Amino acid sequence: MTGVRTYLDFNATAPLRPVARQAVVEALDIVGNPSSVHAEGRRARAVVDDARDAVAALINAKPAEVVFTSGATEANGSALTGVLAGAYGYVVMGALEHESVRVAAQQMAGLKGVPVVELPCSRDGVVDVERLPTLIGAGDVSGRALVLLQLANNETGVVQPIARAVELGSEHGFDVHTDAVQGAGRVAIDFRALGVASMSLSAHKLGGPKGIGALVIRAGCNLMPLIAGGGQERRRRGGTENVAAIAGFGAAAKAALAELAVMERVARLRDEFEAEVIRTSPTAVIIGAEAKRLPNTSCIALPGRSAETLVIKLDLAGIAVSAGAACSSGKVGQSHVLTAMGLGHEIARSAIRVSIGANTTREDLAAFLAAWREIAAEAQLAA
Ligand code: PMP
Repeated sequence: MTGVRTYLDFNATAPLRPVARQAVVEALDIVGNPSSVHAEGRRARAVVDDARDAVAALINAKPAEVVFTSGATEANGSALTGVLAGAYGYVVMGALEHESVRVAAQQMAGLKGVPVVELPCSRDGVVDVERLPTLIGAGDVSGRALVLLQLANNETGVVQPIARAVELGSEHGFDVHTDAVQGAGRVAIDFRALGVASMSLSAHKLGGPKGIGALVIRAGCNLMPLIAGGGQERRRRGGTENVAAIAGFGAAAKAALAELAVMERVARLRDEFEAEVIRTSPTAVIIGAEAKRLPNTSCIALPGRSAETLVIKLDLAGIAVSAGAACSSGKVGQSHVLTAMGLGHEIARSAIRVSIGANTTREDLAAFLAAWREIAAEAQLAA
């Protein structure tokens, strides 16, 4: 890659923070296994414990509620093991869930013959949690329901009504698991006050290393370990801990918590940017603009152009963005999220995602806008 690049794809993965890098590198030299009782082992254990405290602090959970996993895909799968264990007779899934939730839900519920139903959303991308009591009441099932509802959407940034879902859950007797991957470090999260049964986190979305995450489980909610074996993580996740990655996650979580204070500025930058996109290309549509959104995400459709073409043209101009949720295998398909929002083919096929971080500057966004201006003018000519 040559030339200056502008990275605007933080929802796919955020750049590694220097403090996280340093924590990883230092931890790589720790000799001990955290389960060993000697000084070397205790040193490794102390690093893991410090990181656990930092991750718990980011979301106001108890450190003992944090179980380190290989990432949020594993954490989402682990949250569903309650279905395998027979604790749930019914799964309700928001229509906008990430593939790691959708696929695991179908797989695990399928193994037990447990029904999975989808909860629809509005055109703005807000899942209609008010339907939960009737949906669950109407289900011809025995056993408790598990509701899967992301904290914020990875493509649109739209924030979901988790607190309301939990409130309905306590009235009507169901549990809520939330995939908080995109929200953590971008909006304040209070695990205790929310009252969800479990929550998934991923380090690489908040400036930690890839391949490490956590499932946060409310004390008293027992899941079956997805990966069993050694008794690590209080028998909730077997395998020698990835000490270096955990150390990086802890450092990133600490920095992300401090950075929440600047998220209002990030939101203002994003809002000015969107206004400029619309000024430059009046046919463009900002998806989810009417809903409460993360401060860092813009989902922009340019009818008449395919998202794939937009991403390639922007890439050639030195700008990295995504087409919808194209963080898996580079594929660009029509997004199930935009389809579920009822946006229609022309909008859904032309939507790209621009996602920024606390260090993104006005100049970075100006670089995008310069390229966008040309692309939009070409689209106008072709129309
Ligand atoms: N959930 C959401 C909402 C995501 O955006 C992602 C990452 N694309 C995941 C889960 C999976 O996280 P990980 O990469 O840590 O497995």
